[in-house]
Amino acid sequence: MCAPMQIADQRPSTVFLSEELSYGKIQLFQTVNKAEFWDLIMIVCKFGGTSVQDADAMMRLAKIIGAQRDAQPVVVSSAMGKTTNKLLELARTASEGRQQEALDLLASLQDNHLKEARKLGIAVSEDWVAEKIDTYFKEMLDLVHGLSALGELTPRVTDAMASYGERLSTAILTQVLENQGIPSQLMDARQCVITDDNFVNANPLADETEAAIVKHLRPVLEEGKVPVFQGFIGSNREGITTTIGRGGSDHSASLVGAALEADEIQIWTDVDGIMTTDPRMVPEAHRVKEISFNEAAELAYFGARVLHPATILPAVRKKIPVRVLNSSKPDQEGTIITNETQPCGNPVKAIAYKKGVTIVNIASTRMLMAHGFLRKIFEIFDHYKVSVDVVATSEVSVSLSVDETSALGDIVTNLKKIGEVKVEGSQAIVCCVGDNLRNIAGVPHIVFSALQNIDIHMISQGASSINMTFVISEDHLPEAVRELHASLFRKVDPRIFE
Ligand code: ADP
Ligand code: ASP
Ligand code: MG
Repeated sequence: MCAPMQIADQRPSTVFLSEELSYGKIQLFQTVNKAEFWDLIMIVCKFGGTSVQDADAMMRLAKIIGAQRDAQPVVVSSAMGKTTNKLLELARTASEGRQQEALDLLASLQDNHLKEARKLGIAVSEDWVAEKIDTYFKEMLDLVHGLSALGELTPRVTDAMASYGERLSTAILTQVLENQGIPSQLMDARQCVITDDNFVNANPLADETEAAIVKHLRPVLEEGKVPVFQGFIGSNREGITTTIGRGGSDHSASLVGAALEADEIQIWTDVDGIMTTDPRMVPEAHRVKEISFNEAAELAYFGARVLHPATILPAVRKKIPVRVLNSSKPDQEGTIITNETQPCGNPVKAIAYKKGVTIVNIASTRMLMAHGFLRKIFEIFDHYKVSVDVVATSEVSVSLSVDETSALGDIVTNLKKIGEVKVEGSQAIVCCVGDNLRNIAGVPHIVFSALQNIDIHMISQGASSINMTFVISEDHLPEAVRELHASLFRKVDPRIFE
C-alpha cells in the first residue's frame, strides 16, 4: 500500500505515488517512488507556427514525438502558421466596424483549420475535436459581434481572441498523437501559466506558475501520457485569459521545462538551428553547433527571432540545456545552448539585427557632467516603462536607442526640461555576439573595415563585453549585415560552425 504523494519543491528521497493516482494505470508507475520518477528522463518539445502549420507538419511532429517516447516528452505548441496574426487582424477589423470583412476572415480561418484536421482524419464527425473547433469558432463569432457593437478593442479582448490560435492547434495535435498510438492529454495552459494583468504582454508569476505546472502536468506524465500544452497563453489570478507577448511560446516551453526540471528543452522551428545570422537575410549563413546561454540571450535580445528573449532565463536558472532544431529535418543535430563555452577560433558566433529603432539624442553642455544627469534621463524612460537598448555618451550628449515609441512624445517633453532633444527614426541595431569578443584583438578593425561605406550613428560594447553593437540607418541594414557576415565568417572554425 502506498502513502499519499506529496509534491515537494526539492527532489525528496522517498515519497510514494498515491493509490488513486496509480489506480488502473500502467504498472511501471504503481511501483515507482517520486525520487525514481524525477530520475526518469523528461523533455519539453516546443513547436513553432511553421512546425504545426498544416497536416503534413503535424504528422512530422507526431513522428518526432513518437521517436522520443521514452524521454517522456511534453509538447508545447504555437498556433498553426500565421493564425495569431490573422486573429489579431480579425479583432481589429471587427472593432473598426468592418463586420463583413471580419466574418470573411473568421470563415477562412475556420475552413483552414477544418481542412487540415480532416486531412488528418479527424474532426470528420461528432468527435470531441470537431466539437471543440465548433465551440471555439462560435465563441470567436460572439467576440466579433461584441467588438463590432462596441467599436473598441481592449488589450483584454485582444488576448481572448489571440488565445484561440494555440487552443485550436493543440486540440488537433492531441488527436493526431492519439491516432499515431501515442496516448496524449490536452492541457489548459491558462490553469498553469499564471500572469500579472499586463494583457498582451503579461509577465508569468514565477512561483505560482511553477507550482501550477507541477500540479497539472505531473499526474499526466505519471499516467504515461504526453501532455499537449499551449504556448503563448496564460491567465491572471482571476482566471482571465492573458498572452505573454508575440513569439512567447518559447518562453512557455522554458517555464514548463524549468518547473518540471526537464533534461532538455527542444525548440523545433523552420531553420537548422541558431545560424550565424538570419538566413533570410544571408542565405549562406552557417549553423552554430554550440552556443552559451549568455550568447544566445544576447542574440535573442537584439532581434534574432529564432529564440524569444525570455526563453533563456528559466532554463539558465535550472541549468537545462536548450536545443534548437529544424522540424523538417529531425535527424540533424541543430544548435545546443549550454552553460559551457567551447573554444572557438572565430571572435563572433552570430550577428543579430533589429529594425524599427529610434535614436533619442540629448545634448546639454551645461549639465552633462553634472551629478545625476544620466540618472534623470533613465528615470524618465523608466517612468514610461520604455527600455533602452543601446547607450552612447560623448562629452556633450547622450544618445539612446529605443524600439517602443508609443510614449515617445511624453518622454521627449520631459527630456526637453534637461537638454536639447533630437529624435531620429527608421534606424536599425546590428549586434555582433561572441564570448570571444573580449579576448580576440583586432575585431573592431574587421568590423569597421566591413562597414567603411556605412554611416554608423551609435556604437556600444555591452557591459558583458560579449557584444559589439551599432545603430545605422534602416536603409543600410541588408548591406551592413551581408558585409559583416562576409568578413567575420570568411573562414569558420569547424568545431563550432557547419
Ligand atoms: P517559430 O515560429 O518556430 O517560433 P520564428 O519565426 O519565431 O519561428 O523563428 C525562426 C526564424 O528566426 C527563422 O525563420 C529565421 O528567419 C529567424 N532568425 C533570425 N535570426 C536567426 C538566426 N541567427 N538563426 C536562425 N534563425 C534566425
Ligand atoms: N502564436 C504566437 C505568436 O505568433 C506565439 C508564438 O508563436 O510563439 O506570436
Ligand atoms: Mg518564435
